[in-house]
Amino acid sequence: MKVLVTGGFGFIGSNLVLKLVKDHKVINIDNMTYAANPHNLEHILNDDNHIHYPVSICDYDSVQSIIAKYQPDVCFHLAAESHVDNSIESSNSFVTTNITGTHILLEAFADYVKENKNFKFIHISTDEVFGSLEKDDSSFTEKSRYRPNSPYSATKAGSDLLVRSWVRTYGFPAIITNCCNNYGPRQHMEKFIPKAIISLLSDEKIPVYGNGQNIREWIHVDDHVTALETILHKGQLGQQYLIGSGYEKSNHDIAIMLGKLMNIPDPIHYVSDRPGHDFRYSVDNRKLCELGWSPKVDFDIGLEETIAWYRERYIRVFNLTFA
Ligand code: NAD
Repeated sequence: MKVLVTGGFGFIGSNLVLKLVKDHKVINIDNMTYAANPHNLEHILNDDNHIHYPVSICDYDSVQSIIAKYQPDVCFHLAAESHVDNSIESSNSFVTTNITGTHILLEAFADYVKENKNFKFIHISTDEVFGSLEKDDSSFTEKSRYRPNSPYSATKAGSDLLVRSWVRTYGFPAIITNCCNNYGPRQHMEKFIPKAIISLLSDEKIPVYGNGQNIREWIHVDDHVTALETILHKGQLGQQYLIGSGYEKSNHDIAIMLGKLMNIPDPIHYVSDRPGHDFRYSVDNRKLCELGWSPKVDFDIGLEETIAWYRERYIRVFNLTFA
């Protein structure tokens, strides 16, 4: 297959690209924002199966000519501004990339899909579009109402709704996926688990928002990648699939687990809460599991391997020596 990936130098995109290049030609559109890390794909920079275009998804002409040149069989759309805290500081780039960029991508594929009947567009989104749950609420399902609470999740919700409307109005061959929080190798240091690991490696405490009781569902990025592959091959066009692992943990509990695994007692430093901080996310993954997928990575083992990866990466790349 020829696979177009947007955002392939980011966290999830790079893990997906590394898997795809083994068997497919990957065309990677990533304009290398601060969130892209060239080291994420350092092993395949000269691989014939990987072609990188450092252009924005907001650049209609470039995107359209890439589509015309390579005639992809599938597009995995991951390019986004992805950090909630940044969206609270300033939401301009979130509206531009997440909403306008997705719209431009859909427009750039408009004529192409008429001629290429087997093409599939997989839109990667988040469980945060559904808002916040209380402790005893049932998990989100594909039928849950959209109630985004942060500028980030509002722009992702906007992109989901655009894709949905393209499916309904134009018969656009898309599938929407909403995944819970990811962890694993190649994630940007601004995100909670890498930041926590780097803090402990640097003899600092982990900054935890509020009282640390906010709950997230955590999936290993490898399981997200296999879910996307399953959805590509077995998912139904026009459908939406929630991707979850079942591992719900409070931020406090994650910090304590990391402290234990890294032999650091009392690892937490509480900081003022994030404005509008959602209390809990939780995903019902049964619709996806009916396609034959299941999460494989045990959370404790995944976390241990993630610590090892960051320890090795940051010593090698930044030449830092940690205790
Ligand atoms: P990331 O921030 O690590 O990577 C985003 C990538 O997109 C970067 O490489 C960046 O350079 C690129 N990009 C940004 N704007 C672009 C533009 N205008 N044109 C081209 N490329 C651009 O993000 P991530 O954590 O890998 O998330 C990928 C996708 O998955 C996002 O759509 C995000 O909303 C979604 N998602 C993430 C999580 C998570 O826990 N990380 C969970 C569910 C869904």
